[in-house]
Amino acid sequence: MATVNDNYLKLKAGYLFPEIARRVNAFIEANPEAKVIRLGIGDVTEPLPQACRDAMIKAIEDMGDRNSFKGYGPEQGYAWLREKIAANDFQARGCDIDASEIFISDGSKCDCGNILDIFGDDNVIAVTDPVYPVYVDTNVMAGHTGEINEKGEYEGFVYLPVTAENNFTAEIPTEKVDLIYLCFPNNPTGATATKEHLTAWVNYARANGSIIFFDAAYEAFITDPNLPHSIYEIEGAKECAIEFRSFSKNAGFTGTRCALTVVPKNLIGKAKDGSNVELWKLWNRRQSTKFNGVSYIVQRGAEAVYSEEGKAQTRGLIDFYMENAKIIREKLTEAGLSVYGGENAPYVWVKTPAGLTSWDFFDKLLQTCNVVGTPGSGFGAAGEGYFRISAFNSRDNVNEAMRRILDKFK
Ligand SMILES: *Cc1c(COP(=O)(O)O)cnc(C)c1O
Repeated sequence: MATVNDNYLKLKAGYLFPEIARRVNAFIEANPEAKVIRLGIGDVTEPLPQACRDAMIKAIEDMGDRNSFKGYGPEQGYAWLREKIAANDFQARGCDIDASEIFISDGSKCDCGNILDIFGDDNVIAVTDPVYPVYVDTNVMAGHTGEINEKGEYEGFVYLPVTAENNFTAEIPTEKVDLIYLCFPNNPTGATATKEHLTAWVNYARANGSIIFFDAAYEAFITDPNLPHSIYEIEGAKECAIEFRSFSKNAGFTGTRCALTVVPKNLIGKAKDGSNVELWKLWNRRQSTKFNGVSYIVQRGAEAVYSEEGKAQTRGLIDFYMENAKIIREKLTEAGLSVYGGENAPYVWVKTPAGLTSWDFFDKLLQTCNVVGTPGSGFGAAGEGYFRISAFNSRDNVNEAMRRILDKFK
């Protein structure tokens, strides 16, 4: 009989979003007339920018003409897209990143998981708590952890708690860790990192030979001009960091699929025999073998994000969501709740009132306001007592949800 990857059996059974769906469906079944507003899952709601759609329509026409038809593209992505990314997202911010160090993919979620392919199984891995669950689950699947305990922590991880007490930025560990996942602006807390905080991480990583996985999926939502958008704005980061970026949240590509991973050329890891190995070479080999590139049409759509119209339209999308976030922050504060985030990120992180657990507050909000959010405890043990509200929704839904909450809580 064929055996299975037993590591999958260690994964926490009642995964967050299915459990939310179960409770919401049960509520709707019992209350079919209720108009439920979902401010839960982190998916965008507004249509794709016109510039991206126009570029994709033109790309489809290219595919219909023998002379401009495209078959397999480069596994790393087309040079015209990688060059625009290097120039606009990195070089324009003073980051010395070359197009050849950028790998186009169909999503940051996949890249965050796939990156483990090129690392050893004996690394000590640090994650923040709360955390984007993909970082944790992909390590469980790869067999890098033991079993889960009753607090929801897997044996083998170094957990770095982030709470209001430390301003939702993890303390630099006192022990030695090899791989560190950082996400700024953060999902789920909406927290940001200053240059000083990232510098402390880069210094730690360089001193310990660690690699930082920096998830910058929400960098476009930064409004404070003093905050870094890329870890490569920090001196020395090219020697210790891989950065993940995505078109999902800035340009609404969650259903279109395009992202990128930066692996600097001079980044190295250790082989078993003690020799230094360039991670770029391994990732290039991994992608060339297991991946066949993102569709030409989608890459043309992503390229249009960097046109004049594309920049203006994506700015418009982000401004729209950030106005939602501002409304959410203001109204929840008016309702007497303590709120964090939402100023440089599309997520508002709420302290649950009156000592309610995250799931108690979820049920209360669902039952009394018919509003769905995400329980903080679903992102990790230290998220208990918090709740995530997403700004990804229509203005009408945000206004109506806030009106109902103010009604019940004020
Ligand atoms: C949405 C999101 C991403 C982007 O994932 P894609 O697969 O590119 O859609 C990456 N990291 C975090 C933390 C996210 O919330």
